Amino acid sequence: MPIESPPNEMRRAHSIAIIGLGPKGFYCLERLLAEFNARPLRRPLHIHIFNRNANFGASPIYDPEQPEYILVNISVGSIDLWTAENPPIVAGRGPDFLSWYQEKLRPREPLTGEEYLSRADVGRYLLEGFHCLRNHLPHNVTLSCHVGEAIDIRPEGLSYQLEFVAESGHTEQILVDKILLATGHSRLTPGIEENHNQAFARHHSKAAFIPFVYPVVETMGQIPGGSRVAMRGVGLTFIDAALELTEGREGYFERVADRALLYHASGKEPQSIIPYSRTGLPMAPKAYDLPQLARPLTFFTRDALFELSSHASDGKLDLESLWPLFELEMEFQYYRVTMADSDERKQLEACGNDAEAMRRVIDSYLRAHTDTERFDYRPVLDPVGKRRFASGAQFALFVERYMEQEIARARQGHSGSGIKAAIDIWYEVRKTLGSVLQFGGLNPESHKRLIEYYYPRLKRIAFGPPIINIEKLLALSKAGILDFSVARNPRVSTNEANGCFELWCDEIPGTSAQAEILIDARYPSVNIRRDATPLYRNLYRRGMVRAYENWRPADSFAYYPGAIDMTEGTHFIIDGAGTVNDDIAVIGIPTEGNLVGNLTLDRDSYSSIWAAEVMKQLRGRELAARRTNRVS
Ligand SMILES: Cc1cc2nc3c(=O)[nH]c(=O)nc-3n(C[C@H](O)[C@H](O)[C@H](O)COP(=O)(O)OP(=O)(O)OC[C@H]3O[C@@H](n4cnc5c(N)ncnc54)[C@H](O)[C@@H]3O)c2cc1C
Repeated sequence: MPIESPPNEMRRAHSIAIIGLGPKGFYCLERLLAEFNARPLRRPLHIHIFNRNANFGASPIYDPEQPEYILVNISVGSIDLWTAENPPIVAGRGPDFLSWYQEKLRPREPLTGEEYLSRADVGRYLLEGFHCLRNHLPHNVTLSCHVGEAIDIRPEGLSYQLEFVAESGHTEQILVDKILLATGHSRLTPGIEENHNQAFARHHSKAAFIPFVYPVVETMGQIPGGSRVAMRGVGLTFIDAALELTEGREGYFERVADRALLYHASGKEPQSIIPYSRTGLPMAPKAYDLPQLARPLTFFTRDALFELSSHASDGKLDLESLWPLFELEMEFQYYRVTMADSDERKQLEACGNDAEAMRRVIDSYLRAHTDTERFDYRPVLDPVGKRRFASGAQFALFVERYMEQEIARARQGHSGSGIKAAIDIWYEVRKTLGSVLQFGGLNPESHKRLIEYYYPRLKRIAFGPPIINIEKLLALSKAGILDFSVARNPRVSTNEANGCFELWCDEIPGTSAQAEILIDARYPSVNIRRDATPLYRNLYRRGMVRAYENWRPADSFAYYPGAIDMTEGTHFIIDGAGTVNDDIAVIGIPTEGNLVGNLTLDRDSYSSIWAAEVMKQLRGRELAARRTNRVS
């Protein structure tokens, strides 16, 4: 339902639609208002914003109604909506999250910024930010807030008919000049396996298949106490679901003498939660002292990458050539911690980017300190390695030991654990890599290997939850509610006779489990060709958008990372015939796989680029119209 309707006199106003008002849509709205305020157009501007629910700015990820134990996975000191400067923010600079929290919630102890607080609180901060903007619209700007789903866009003359289904089910057509797609997380059309599981659950009264865990309270609310629940995925989404089924059912955690958590069951939980994934391992928790500011890189620098690409025959980088730079970067960080305040550390630091000199210092240090382990990141990426397990119980015990080890490392943090300091340099490397990866900077095979092999593995060890969440998983495992015995890469089948799902772990002979309920506890990655939302289905079917491909002409090998195709810098969508549409731009998650690092609250420069560009275009239209009037 529109909160404000465009008045009649605004009929000649320019109109801009922002589809999706999560954090990214919010940043773009903010910049658009700032641009208009600083350099107004002659004609008024009407902005339509579309969001599936009324939490403009927050999106379901930061739903203010979700339980307080669902936490952010970045420390709150880095959250700030108001970092843009030029042109100035229409509402003036608002508070960063920390100041907002201290002011609103007045915690007994002042926050340090290293805390991981509830996503609901961040949602409240985002909502308030949006309301603040809405109360500071510049003169000649109006705003309509539409709650519901934008389902289609059709060209009409110089404008577009945007089709929208409101919450009430009523369909509206809205004419707009320019559109920004800020649609964020999406859903994929079900594959063969998902359809099979759905059909099986329909035909067996005890069985249920849940393809998506959010909204977590409603979805997990369907699961009867005492049932056996298998969950595919052992990442952040799984943690939200597992906590909802335990803490959300009046169970509670108590910290006991040895610093560990103990889970007290309420009796309303499932009998067992049976997680599984390729590795069967939970994520490693984040170091308690993860720096909020970027750490400088020594080897994996833009200059070094440009140097490498200048030698590449087709200008596209090969992953094999740049991976050693990441390895050097990790080694440097590891030994900086391990060498502590020794003279060798001073020598190490003095090597700069001279890799050979650095390795000489390291070798000499290791000769003198035989108890120091040589750095090797491979067992961190793959802690199971060649180990074999005699039983599911043995694997489950291994997972518990693994969680204990990772909790200990995360508590030591970057200052105490060389491994943590080394692996987490991926945060910085990923940013630099992202700037060369985009628009085919890597050859298609390297691009594929990076996105499909390294990214998920590094994500598991670098982008995990706060320590408390792995402590909770450990406590649930020890309480016998989480059952990791078949977690490692099982085959999942349906058992007609028993009417339940079955998991068989081939790596551990004879290990199997049964569950009445199967949940896909993962967040789908981007795939514009399989996007399930009506909007993208319609745009793709009509050829208004296409998938980005990293293509090598020599042998026509192409890699499709799933992202939407668009122009570099301006992010205008490109249609099926390769024509650029400079009326429609895209930001954030739909671009993931070509651009990387969109899954964050952080702001990048694109909101400013888009706002300046769209205003330039509208100004150009005004100028062209004035010229035409003069001529006629
Ligand atoms: C479970 C989970 C937890 C996360 N936790 C963190 C965290 O702690 N810290 C962090 O930095 N990042 C986190 N992220 C990453 C997250 O991607 C970003 O923080 C952020 O939500 C991205 O913002 P966005 O605006 O691009 O997308 P979204 O947040 O997904 O917002 C998109 C909005 O567009 C709306 N929309 C989409 N299509 C339409 C349509 N057709 N019509 C109308 N409305 C539409 C949606 O309803 C939604 O409100 C998390 C992600 C997940 C999945």
